[in-house]
Amino acid sequence: MRPRERNAVSVPRAHGSVPNAWQRELGRLVFAARHTSIVALAVLAAVVPSIGPNRWWIAGAVLGLVLPWDLLMHWWTRRTGRPPVVMFLANQLFGAAFIALAPTVYVPTLLALVADIGLAIVIFGRRTSGTALAFGVLVVGCAAFSVDTHEPLVGMFGYVIAGASLIAGVGALFESERRLRNRHLALLGDVDAIVWEAVHTPTRRYTFASERANAILGFPATQWTDSGFWQDHIHPDDLERVLAEDADAFRGRHDVELEYRMISADGRVVCLRDRVTVVIDAAGQAVGLRGVVIDITAQRGAEERFRQYADLVERIQMALLVARLVDPADSRSLEVVAANPMACALSPHGLDDLVGYRVVDVFPRLVKLGLHEHLARVVATGEPYDLDDLEPDRAAGGVVHYSVHAFPLGPDLVGVSLDDVTGPSLAAQALRRQATHDTLTGLPNRALLNDRLRRALREATQNCTTAALLVMDLDQFKEINDALGHHAGDELLVAMSRRLEDMLGDSGLIARLGGDEFAILLTENADRAGATAVAQLVERALEQPFEVEGISLQTNASLGIALYPDHATDPELLAQRADVAMYQAKRSAHSFAMYAAEHDHSSVRRVTLLGELRRAVEFDEFRLFHQPTISLATGALVGTEALVRWQHPVHGLMGPSEFIDLAEVSGMIHPLTRWAFKSALYQAGAWAEPGEEPTIGVSINLSVRNLYDPELTAWMEALLVESNFPPSLVTLELTESEVMDDPFLAVEVLGQLRALGVHTSIDDFGTGHSALAYLKHLPIDEIKIDQSFVAGLRTSRADETIVRAIIDLGHNLGLTVVAEGVEDDETLQRLRDLGCDRAQGFHLSPPVTCHQIPTVASATKAPVGRASVARQ
Ligand code: C2E
Ligand code: CA
Ligand code: CA
Repeated sequence: MRPRERNAVSVPRAHGSVPNAWQRELGRLVFAARHTSIVALAVLAAVVPSIGPNRWWIAGAVLGLVLPWDLLMHWWTRRTGRPPVVMFLANQLFGAAFIALAPTVYVPTLLALVADIGLAIVIFGRRTSGTALAFGVLVVGCAAFSVDTHEPLVGMFGYVIAGASLIAGVGALFESERRLRNRHLALLGDVDAIVWEAVHTPTRRYTFASERANAILGFPATQWTDSGFWQDHIHPDDLERVLAEDADAFRGRHDVELEYRMISADGRVVCLRDRVTVVIDAAGQAVGLRGVVIDITAQRGAEERFRQYADLVERIQMALLVARLVDPADSRSLEVVAANPMACALSPHGLDDLVGYRVVDVFPRLVKLGLHEHLARVVATGEPYDLDDLEPDRAAGGVVHYSVHAFPLGPDLVGVSLDDVTGPSLAAQALRRQATHDTLTGLPNRALLNDRLRRALREATQNCTTAALLVMDLDQFKEINDALGHHAGDELLVAMSRRLEDMLGDSGLIARLGGDEFAILLTENADRAGATAVAQLVERALEQPFEVEGISLQTNASLGIALYPDHATDPELLAQRADVAMYQAKRSAHSFAMYAAEHDHSSVRRVTLLGELRRAVEFDEFRLFHQPTISLATGALVGTEALVRWQHPVHGLMGPSEFIDLAEVSGMIHPLTRWAFKSALYQAGAWAEPGEEPTIGVSINLSVRNLYDPELTAWMEALLVESNFPPSLVTLELTESEVMDDPFLAVEVLGQLRALGVHTSIDDFGTGHSALAYLKHLPIDEIKIDQSFVAGLRTSRADETIVRAIIDLGHNLGLTVVAEGVEDDETLQRLRDLGCDRAQGFHLSPPVTCHQIPTVASATKAPVGRASVARQ
């Protein structure tokens, strides 16, 4: 809507700078009369001899001076809207000059000057015409008295009396007419409409338009009277219709109300309502049109907006309704005042119009959820009410979610919008689930576990109860993954998750933390005994193999248990301590461990080390030491066992017990084993004199995880070729307990390795509870008697029996028997007596650097008995 300032309405002044139509008409007529009179005067002067001898002068002056002057005045008047005051003064001068030149026309000239005074009154009013009269009396008087005129004094009297009477009479009439006119114009100007008059020739041509035309359309009222103005500014889309209706009204002589648009001076589209009256003369003929135009742009805009809102409300995919609380004390008295089609569709009664019905009757499902009470509260408090996820329709099959917004609309009204957000809501649910659940197993993830853990500890604190966190890591998962592919690994994880879930039931929350790590949160029976019982249940659940892609897989897990409040009172520390316990379990022979403060001493360091291991390979921080193995028969150095150390930048030289298990857990065992193998081969190769074949063998320790490395065999084969080190001098050691972790796999991989020409050895023999039956199927060349038996050889009969039995068994199977951990000469002697083949131990030599081995080798070439070969 265009603001229309009242101040902008100009009230016409007495001598408006812009003349009205009638003024212009008057101007036109007056000047036409004047020009004609001037020409007539010139002709008269030329043809009437009685005018006197100067008549030719007069005719010439009239044509040459007065006529051009008058034409100039006409032009000026057309331009400015009214004649200049000087015109009337000049007329008096011309009159005086005329009398001076032709005294005989004294009286007629006076008559003409009186008429001119009359004209001045009409145009300028009394004061200006009075001035013109006074000026006239002066100049004309001078002229009349200076030449020989007839009765100049009488003439002047007559002129003064006639002029003064005119000014008094016509002036008063003119003043009152002008006041009246101004009042009318002011009144018209005050009306917020364009009042107009027009003729119909053959379309509307305005003869008058009130000043408001300027404010409404920006065209001055004078421009309206230009022919063609009206149709030129009607909106092209409306033009044909409006012209037809207008012509129709004129012809039919009936009044009409037209609505059309016009284009304003500044290009706006202005909607107008035009009430047209046909002017009919006495003869009953239509002679013109008269009308009032009002600007309805704002109203049209409002109507249009209202229509759009109405459309919106009707079509919007959202239930909208307005309800009135009839009885402020009764929320059930809410009555529908307005409802859109979506709201109707929401009602189960199939009604087209809900107006007049009670909300409780038409929306029974919403009422069941207490919505009417919320709505009544909105009316009572004036506070809006929002509910994001209303689910009224669960019972009716498909789940539907609504987002409800209720807002006060007046003293007793409430507006309600119900938006079906089923799609977004379900998507949000899925997202929420994705954020809190593991996609593979569907188990809660770490985030959800953390959340539940925090909540559980809060509740346990409030209720003075306990909670337990069990962290679990599968022992050979990576190997399974590597050997059988990720798909099998995934399948195993899923199968295991289901089994653990079934086992646990409602007694705890099981979450997958990532990879092969799981956690169980217990809040009931969550004391030491309860948690231990669950750990045992898990152990038992995993005893049964899993069928994955037709293969029967068995996996062990290490579980760490931490209890609230015994071990930690905050969730982070509890989780960390369960981790510590889990590593403890991994290091021990048990499948689970309860957190104990003494484990924790190294735990933080271990977690840090775990991160640093990767860097250790890159930065070449591992060192290989060699522990000599001698032949008990000859005392000569026959080989070494390559033992890894970590030259840590902060902790110094660290033994394998501090990091081998970490390397196994983290998968770093693979690069580590490769590094040890390669280093051992090159170092042992360097022990041979240039040009001579190597003679000192080297043993490398394998971890069971290496068996799951499908590329290891091929890699070793390539390296053997590359290093040119004889495979027959290489021995690969695997502990007995690790062989027993997966005997079938051990048989298979050891067989493959042996096919490369290397020897294989069972380390720490006697501790792994291997069934002797297996032993004969194992593709091995050597057994190493565990140092615990060797250490007891001197003192324990039982140990001696065991050592003897192992040596005999080994020999029966055609294997070389090595005793490790020989710490004294007596033990060395006993072993030799028992027929053991080789020995290794601090008594002979501690692990040394590769550079020391040639020295050891040459020392052992001495006669048997020089046992302490590398002590010096
Ligand atoms: P292991 O294979 O049984 O190696 C023998 C361990 O006994 C070595 O400990 C050695 O220093 C120690 N030892 C040697 N003589 C004696 C003795 O007379 N008395 C006593 N009490 N101990 C003796 P180390 O070097 O700390 O290695 C510990 C274990 O770390 C090794 O046990 C081996 O299982 C593992 N390991 C070492 N290097 C590697 C490696 O490169 N790869 C893998 N997977 N494991 C390794
Ligand atoms: Ca070993
Ligand atoms: Ca050993």
